[in-house]
Amino acid sequence: MAEILDGKEVSRVKKEELKKKIIELKEKCGITPGLAIIRVGEDPASEIYVKNKLKACASLGIHAIEKHFEGTEKEEEIIKTIESFNTDQTIDGILVQSPLPNSYDEQKIVSHVLSSKDVDGFGIMNLGYLLANQEQILAATPLGIIHLLDYYNIPIASKHVVIIGRSQIVGRPLSILFLNRDATVTITHSKTTNLKEITQTADILVSAVGKPHFVTADMVKVGAVCIDVGISRVENHVVGDMDFDSIKEKASFITPVPGGVGPMTIATLLENVYTLALKRKER
Ligand code: NAD
Repeated sequence: MAEILDGKEVSRVKKEELKKKIIELKEKCGITPGLAIIRVGEDPASEIYVKNKLKACASLGIHAIEKHFEGTEKEEEIIKTIESFNTDQTIDGILVQSPLPNSYDEQKIVSHVLSSKDVDGFGIMNLGYLLANQEQILAATPLGIIHLLDYYNIPIASKHVVIIGRSQIVGRPLSILFLNRDATVTITHSKTTNLKEITQTADILVSAVGKPHFVTADMVKVGAVCIDVGISRVENHVVGDMDFDSIKEKASFITPVPGGVGPMTIATLLENVYTLALKRKER
Protein backbone atom coordinates (compact mmCIF):
# COMPACT_ATOMS: atom_id res chain seq x y z
CA MET A 1 0.00 0.00 0.00
CA ALA A 2 1.42 3.35 -1.05
CA GLU A 3 2.32 6.14 1.32
CA ILE A 4 0.43 9.35 0.59
CA LEU A 5 2.48 12.33 -0.53
CA ASP A 6 0.52 14.88 1.45
CA GLY A 7 0.87 18.11 -0.49
CA LYS A 8 -1.61 19.87 1.74
CA GLU A 9 0.48 19.22 4.85
CA VAL A 10 3.85 19.89 3.17
CA SER A 11 2.57 23.15 1.73
CA ARG A 12 1.30 24.16 5.18
CA VAL A 13 4.78 23.59 6.61
CA LYS A 14 6.42 25.47 3.71
CA LYS A 15 4.04 28.40 4.11
CA GLU A 16 4.70 28.60 7.85
CA GLU A 17 8.44 28.78 7.16
CA LEU A 18 7.89 31.38 4.48
CA LYS A 19 5.70 33.51 6.73
CA LYS A 20 8.56 33.79 9.21
CA LYS A 21 11.02 34.73 6.46
CA ILE A 22 8.64 37.41 5.16
CA ILE A 23 8.29 38.94 8.63
CA GLU A 24 12.09 39.00 8.90
CA LEU A 25 12.45 40.62 5.47
CA LYS A 26 10.03 43.36 6.53
CA GLU A 27 11.75 43.94 9.85
CA LYS A 28 15.34 43.86 8.60
CA CYS A 29 15.01 45.39 5.13
CA GLY A 30 11.62 47.14 5.15
CA ILE A 31 10.54 45.07 2.16
CA THR A 32 7.03 43.69 1.76
CA PRO A 33 6.98 41.21 -1.15
CA GLY A 34 4.52 42.25 -3.86
CA LEU A 35 2.62 40.27 -6.48
CA ALA A 36 0.51 41.65 -9.33
CA ILE A 37 -1.95 39.31 -11.02
CA ILE A 38 -3.51 40.13 -14.37
CA ARG A 39 -6.71 38.31 -15.22
CA VAL A 40 -8.44 38.70 -18.56
CA GLY A 41 -11.98 37.58 -19.36
CA GLU A 42 -14.48 35.67 -17.27
CA ASP A 43 -13.12 32.12 -17.09
CA PRO A 44 -14.70 30.82 -13.83
CA ALA A 45 -11.78 28.49 -13.00
CA SER A 46 -9.30 31.37 -13.42
CA GLU A 47 -11.41 33.53 -11.15
CA ILE A 48 -11.24 30.88 -8.40
CA TYR A 49 -7.49 30.29 -8.90
CA VAL A 50 -6.78 34.03 -8.65
CA LYS A 51 -8.98 34.40 -5.57
CA ASN A 52 -7.08 31.55 -3.90
CA LYS A 53 -3.72 33.08 -4.79
CA LEU A 54 -4.77 36.47 -3.38
CA LYS A 55 -6.03 34.82 -0.21
CA ALA A 56 -2.81 32.83 0.21
CA CYS A 57 -0.74 35.99 -0.29
CA ALA A 58 -2.76 37.87 2.32
CA SER A 59 -2.30 35.10 4.87
CA LEU A 60 1.49 35.29 4.48
CA GLY A 61 1.84 39.05 4.46
CA ILE A 62 2.51 39.36 0.72
CA HIS A 63 1.07 42.50 -0.86
CA ALA A 64 -1.02 41.24 -3.80
CA ILE A 65 -3.19 43.08 -6.28
CA GLU A 66 -5.39 41.92 -9.12
CA LYS A 67 -5.96 43.85 -12.32
CA HIS A 68 -8.95 42.44 -14.16
CA PHE A 69 -9.68 43.10 -17.83
CA GLU A 70 -13.08 42.23 -19.26
CA GLY A 71 -11.64 40.72 -22.39
CA THR A 72 -12.79 43.44 -24.78
CA GLU A 73 -9.70 45.63 -24.38
CA LYS A 74 -6.90 45.87 -26.91
CA GLU A 75 -3.69 43.90 -26.29
CA GLU A 76 -1.81 47.20 -26.00
CA GLU A 77 -3.84 48.14 -22.94
CA ILE A 78 -2.86 44.94 -21.12
CA ILE A 79 0.76 45.37 -22.17
CA LYS A 80 0.71 48.95 -20.83
CA THR A 81 -0.43 47.61 -17.46
CA ILE A 82 2.35 45.02 -17.46
CA GLU A 83 4.86 47.77 -18.23
CA SER A 84 3.63 49.87 -15.34
CA PHE A 85 4.04 46.88 -13.00
CA ASN A 86 7.53 46.35 -14.48
CA THR A 87 8.58 49.75 -13.14
CA ASP A 88 6.58 49.60 -9.90
CA GLN A 89 9.07 49.18 -7.04
CA THR A 90 6.45 47.62 -4.73
CA ILE A 91 5.80 44.77 -7.19
CA ASP A 92 8.30 41.90 -7.29
CA GLY A 93 6.35 39.36 -9.35
CA ILE A 94 3.89 39.69 -12.22
CA LEU A 95 1.59 36.84 -13.15
CA VAL A 96 -0.70 36.75 -16.17
CA GLN A 97 -3.37 34.18 -15.33
CA SER A 98 -3.63 31.60 -18.10
CA PRO A 99 -5.62 30.97 -20.24
CA LEU A 100 -6.35 34.31 -21.89
CA PRO A 101 -9.37 34.49 -24.21
CA ASN A 102 -8.54 33.16 -27.70
CA SER A 103 -8.58 36.62 -29.24
CA TYR A 104 -5.33 37.49 -27.43
CA ASP A 105 -1.78 36.44 -28.25
CA GLU A 106 -0.88 35.09 -24.80
CA GLN A 107 2.77 34.47 -25.62
CA LYS A 108 3.20 38.02 -26.90
CA ILE A 109 1.51 39.55 -23.84
CA VAL A 110 3.47 37.46 -21.34
CA SER A 111 6.74 38.30 -23.12
CA HIS A 112 6.37 41.88 -21.82
CA VAL A 113 6.85 40.76 -18.22
CA LEU A 114 10.41 41.64 -17.16
CA SER A 115 12.40 38.46 -16.58
CA SER A 116 13.35 39.82 -13.13
CA LYS A 117 9.62 39.84 -12.27
CA ASP A 118 8.67 36.63 -14.10
CA VAL A 119 7.23 34.90 -11.05
CA ASP A 120 5.82 32.02 -13.13
CA GLY A 121 9.19 31.23 -14.69
CA PHE A 122 7.52 30.92 -18.11
CA GLY A 123 9.58 33.67 -19.77
CA ILE A 124 12.21 32.81 -22.36
CA MET A 125 15.07 33.98 -20.11
CA ASN A 126 14.08 31.84 -17.14
CA LEU A 127 13.42 28.86 -19.41
CA GLY A 128 16.87 29.37 -20.92
CA TYR A 129 18.48 29.39 -17.48
CA LEU A 130 16.61 26.19 -16.65
CA LEU A 131 17.83 24.52 -19.83
CA ALA A 132 21.40 25.64 -19.13
CA ASN A 133 21.15 24.08 -15.65
CA GLN A 134 21.49 27.51 -14.04
CA GLU A 135 18.04 27.49 -12.52
CA GLN A 136 16.61 30.87 -11.48
CA ILE A 137 12.86 31.34 -11.14
CA LEU A 138 11.11 28.05 -11.91
CA ALA A 139 7.53 27.28 -12.84
CA ALA A 140 5.52 26.67 -9.66
CA THR A 141 3.93 23.31 -10.47
CA PRO A 142 7.14 21.54 -11.58
CA LEU A 143 9.17 23.00 -8.71
CA GLY A 144 6.40 22.14 -6.26
CA ILE A 145 6.66 18.50 -7.39
CA ILE A 146 10.41 18.48 -6.76
CA HIS A 147 9.86 20.06 -3.31
CA LEU A 148 7.33 17.35 -2.49
CA LEU A 149 9.72 14.54 -3.48
CA ASP A 150 12.55 16.21 -1.53
CA TYR A 151 10.37 16.57 1.56
CA TYR A 152 9.78 12.80 1.60
CA ASN A 153 13.47 12.11 0.80
CA ILE A 154 12.57 10.34 -2.41
CA PRO A 155 15.71 10.00 -4.52
CA ILE A 156 15.66 11.38 -8.06
CA ALA A 157 19.20 10.81 -9.35
CA SER A 158 19.55 7.76 -11.61
CA LYS A 159 15.80 7.05 -11.49
CA HIS A 160 13.77 6.59 -14.63
CA VAL A 161 11.19 9.37 -14.65
CA VAL A 162 8.32 9.11 -17.12
CA ILE A 163 6.21 12.22 -17.65
CA ILE A 164 2.89 12.03 -19.48
CA GLY A 165 2.21 15.44 -21.05
CA ARG A 166 4.51 17.96 -22.71
CA SER A 167 2.85 21.31 -21.92
CA GLN A 168 4.80 24.53 -21.48
CA ILE A 169 3.69 24.84 -17.87
CA VAL A 170 4.16 21.28 -16.62
CA GLY A 171 5.73 18.54 -18.76
CA ARG A 172 8.50 20.44 -20.54
CA PRO A 173 9.97 22.39 -17.60
CA LEU A 174 9.51 19.42 -15.27
CA SER A 175 11.47 17.16 -17.61
CA ILE A 176 14.46 19.52 -17.44
CA LEU A 177 14.20 19.87 -13.66
CA PHE A 178 14.47 16.08 -13.38
CA LEU A 179 17.30 15.99 -15.90
CA ASN A 180 19.17 18.66 -13.91
CA ARG A 181 18.83 16.34 -10.90
CA ASP A 182 20.43 13.43 -12.80
CA ALA A 183 17.31 11.41 -13.57
CA THR A 184 16.85 9.55 -16.83
CA VAL A 185 13.79 11.22 -18.31
CA THR A 186 11.22 10.10 -20.86
CA ILE A 187 8.50 12.51 -21.96
CA THR A 188 5.38 11.01 -23.49
CA HIS A 189 2.46 12.81 -25.13
CA SER A 190 -0.61 12.44 -27.31
CA LYS A 191 1.42 11.07 -30.24
CA THR A 192 3.28 8.47 -28.19
CA THR A 193 2.32 5.04 -29.52
CA ASN A 194 3.51 2.63 -26.82
CA LEU A 195 2.57 4.56 -23.71
CA LYS A 196 1.85 1.63 -21.40
CA GLU A 197 5.11 -0.08 -22.32
CA ILE A 198 6.98 3.08 -21.29
CA THR A 199 5.04 3.92 -18.13
CA GLN A 200 5.58 0.37 -16.86
CA THR A 201 9.31 1.11 -16.68
CA ALA A 202 8.94 4.30 -14.60
CA ASP A 203 10.44 4.56 -11.13
CA ILE A 204 8.72 7.94 -10.89
CA LEU A 205 5.58 8.41 -13.00
CA VAL A 206 4.08 11.87 -13.47
CA SER A 207 0.80 12.41 -15.25
CA ALA A 208 -0.26 15.86 -16.51
CA VAL A 209 -2.94 15.13 -19.08
CA GLY A 210 -6.25 16.28 -17.62
CA LYS A 211 -8.28 13.13 -18.28
CA PRO A 212 -9.91 11.33 -15.33
CA HIS A 213 -8.68 7.75 -14.74
CA PHE A 214 -6.33 8.01 -17.69
CA VAL A 215 -3.56 6.16 -15.83
CA THR A 216 -4.66 2.69 -14.71
CA ALA A 217 -2.90 0.26 -12.36
CA ASP A 218 -1.66 -1.96 -15.22
CA MET A 219 0.41 1.00 -16.49
CA VAL A 220 2.32 1.28 -13.21
CA LYS A 221 5.38 -0.68 -12.04
CA VAL A 222 5.21 -2.18 -8.54
CA GLY A 223 6.86 0.27 -6.13
CA ALA A 224 6.70 3.28 -8.46
CA VAL A 225 6.31 6.82 -7.13
CA CYS A 226 3.15 8.26 -8.69
CA ILE A 227 2.59 11.98 -9.08
CA ASP A 228 -0.81 13.07 -10.34
CA VAL A 229 -0.91 16.62 -11.70
CA GLY A 230 -4.25 16.33 -13.49
CA ILE A 231 -7.30 18.24 -12.32
CA SER A 232 -10.70 17.39 -13.79
CA ARG A 233 -14.22 17.90 -12.54
CA VAL A 234 -16.47 14.87 -12.47
CA GLU A 235 -19.96 15.32 -11.05
CA ASN A 236 -18.82 18.25 -8.93
CA HIS A 237 -15.78 16.38 -7.59
CA VAL A 238 -12.19 17.20 -8.42
CA VAL A 239 -10.28 14.14 -9.67
CA GLY A 240 -6.82 13.55 -11.09
CA ASP A 241 -5.53 11.52 -14.04
CA MET A 242 -4.70 8.45 -11.98
CA ASP A 243 -6.99 5.65 -10.91
CA PHE A 244 -6.03 6.36 -7.30
CA ASP A 245 -7.69 3.39 -5.51
CA SER A 246 -6.11 0.67 -7.65
CA ILE A 247 -2.74 2.39 -8.14
CA LYS A 248 -2.22 2.98 -4.42
CA GLU A 249 -2.14 -0.81 -3.95
CA LYS A 250 0.86 -1.03 -6.30
CA ALA A 251 2.81 2.20 -5.87
CA SER A 252 5.26 3.09 -3.10
CA PHE A 253 4.10 6.72 -2.93
CA ILE A 254 1.16 8.51 -4.50
CA THR A 255 -0.26 12.04 -4.52
CA PRO A 256 -3.97 12.44 -3.88
CA VAL A 257 -6.16 14.80 -5.91
CA PRO A 258 -7.10 17.13 -4.38
CA GLY A 259 -4.43 17.68 -1.74
CA GLY A 260 -1.30 16.66 -3.64
CA VAL A 261 0.34 18.76 -6.33
CA GLY A 262 -2.23 21.59 -6.24
CA PRO A 263 -1.35 23.01 -2.80
CA MET A 264 2.36 22.63 -3.59
CA THR A 265 1.88 24.83 -6.66
CA ILE A 266 0.46 27.69 -4.58
CA ALA A 267 3.13 27.39 -1.87
CA THR A 268 5.87 27.43 -4.52
CA LEU A 269 4.40 30.46 -6.25
CA LEU A 270 4.50 32.34 -2.93
CA GLU A 271 8.08 31.24 -2.44
CA ASN A 272 8.90 32.62 -5.89
CA VAL A 273 7.44 36.01 -4.91
CA TYR A 274 9.66 36.01 -1.82
CA THR A 275 12.75 35.01 -3.85
CA LEU A 276 12.14 37.89 -6.26
CA ALA A 277 11.58 40.31 -3.36
CA LEU A 278 15.00 39.37 -1.96
CA LYS A 279 16.48 40.72 -5.21
CA ARG A 280 14.51 43.97 -5.11
CA LYS A 281 17.56 46.02 -4.19
CA GLU A 282 19.44 44.68 -7.26
CA ARG A 283 16.76 45.89 -9.67
P1 NAD B 1 -2.30 20.60 -21.62
O1 NAD B 1 -3.66 20.37 -22.14
O2 NAD B 1 -1.54 21.79 -22.06
O3 NAD B 1 -1.43 19.33 -21.90
C1 NAD B 1 -1.93 18.04 -21.80
C2 NAD B 1 -0.87 17.11 -22.28
O4 NAD B 1 -1.40 15.80 -22.27
C3 NAD B 1 -0.41 17.38 -23.71
O5 NAD B 1 0.99 17.55 -23.72
C4 NAD B 1 -0.80 16.14 -24.48
O6 NAD B 1 0.17 15.75 -25.45
C5 NAD B 1 -0.93 15.09 -23.40
N1 NAD B 1 -1.88 14.05 -23.78
C6 NAD B 1 -3.15 14.21 -24.18
N2 NAD B 1 -3.69 13.00 -24.51
C7 NAD B 1 -2.71 12.09 -24.32
C8 NAD B 1 -2.63 10.70 -24.52
N3 NAD B 1 -3.67 10.01 -24.98
N4 NAD B 1 -1.47 10.06 -24.23
C9 NAD B 1 -0.40 10.76 -23.75
N5 NAD B 1 -0.43 12.10 -23.57
C10 NAD B 1 -1.56 12.75 -23.85
O7 NAD B 1 -2.45 20.56 -20.06
P2 NAD B 1 -1.58 21.16 -18.85
O8 NAD B 1 -1.76 22.62 -18.82
O9 NAD B 1 -0.22 20.58 -18.82
O10 NAD B 1 -2.39 20.51 -17.65
C11 NAD B 1 -2.56 19.12 -17.55
C12 NAD B 1 -3.45 18.81 -16.37
O11 NAD B 1 -2.82 19.27 -15.20
C13 NAD B 1 -4.80 19.53 -16.40
O12 NAD B 1 -5.76 18.70 -15.79
C14 NAD B 1 -4.56 20.75 -15.54
O13 NAD B 1 -5.74 21.24 -14.95
C15 NAD B 1 -3.64 20.19 -14.51
N6 NAD B 1 -2.75 21.16 -13.86
C16 NAD B 1 -2.67 21.09 -12.52
C17 NAD B 1 -1.83 21.95 -11.84
C18 NAD B 1 -1.74 21.84 -10.37
O14 NAD B 1 -1.24 22.72 -9.72
N7 NAD B 1 -2.17 20.73 -9.79
C19 NAD B 1 -1.07 22.89 -12.54
C20 NAD B 1 -1.14 22.92 -13.93
C21 NAD B 1 -1.99 22.02 -14.58
